[in-house]
Amino acid sequence: MTDGRLTEIADGVHAHVQGDGGWCLNNSGLLAGGGESALVDTVATAGRARALRARVLAVADRPPRYLVNTHFHGDHTFGNCVFPEAVVVGHARARDEAAAAGLHLTGLWPEVRWGELEVVVPQVTFEERMTLYVGELRAELLHVGPAHTCGDTVVWLPDQRVLFAGDVVMNGVTPFCPMGSVSGSLRALAALRALEPLTVVPGHGPVGGPELLDADAGYFRRLQELAREGVAAGLTPYDVAREAGPGPYAGLLDAERLVPNLHRAYAEERGALPGAPLDIGALFREMARYHGGLPVCRA
Ligand SMILES: [Zn+2]
Repeated sequence: MTDGRLTEIADGVHAHVQGDGGWCLNNSGLLAGGGESALVDTVATAGRARALRARVLAVADRPPRYLVNTHFHGDHTFGNCVFPEAVVVGHARARDEAAAAGLHLTGLWPEVRWGELEVVVPQVTFEERMTLYVGELRAELLHVGPAHTCGDTVVWLPDQRVLFAGDVVMNGVTPFCPMGSVSGSLRALAALRALEPLTVVPGHGPVGGPELLDADAGYFRRLQELAREGVAAGLTPYDVAREAGPGPYAGLLDAERLVPNLHRAYAEERGALPGAPLDIGALFREMARYHGGLPVCRA
């Protein structure tokens, strides 16, 4: 198991980063002040969630009262059930997406020791934005999707200029948008840049600054170019992925995401609306073919 770590990045604001951020090794956040605390996302497995809970209780006086889910993916939400005292907050679409997905992710990687898990979907939902106060800390929950999914939330602390971006932003890890949107991801990244954050906690990978937003935007623009050329040339997304490869993004983890990402870019190039449903199961199978097997999940 790759160990997670809580690091204080501003007064009362902590980032929980797990390893290099590969498949299902996600980041979380802890806001603690005035005897209260709130978590931003949990982790994928029951064992990891219990370890996260112990780390949180070593910093906060009490278990978190609130738990914000940045989106529905199991690596960010399966640990919800280990924080039964917390009210789970998320975007309305994220609640629907979490209920529809259930524990499906566990079947994708049956070799992972998921432990006893129970899906807990957001109990308080919002549409555009809401404000959460934790002691003196003010956290703005902003809906920025469809980007990584259709129900994306970022958590913005305007006084500390800290941004918990969920999987709308990755660092050292390939972005992933087949359940969301390429154009929507670019719009979201522009909106996040306009906040002028000093510290950006990505959904996966090390904490950074606003440069992470530019790096990811470059990846999404390349996807759009590849899709434009591929559609014009009559090539399939798979052919384009084979021919073009990850190119300047070969250094990012999980480069095989190029295949499902290109499918989303193709759909949009052909006029699909952001977030229009794609056959995610089929895209995973095609990604595994490109990769020469299902990518390894080290959760
Ligand atoms: Zn995700």
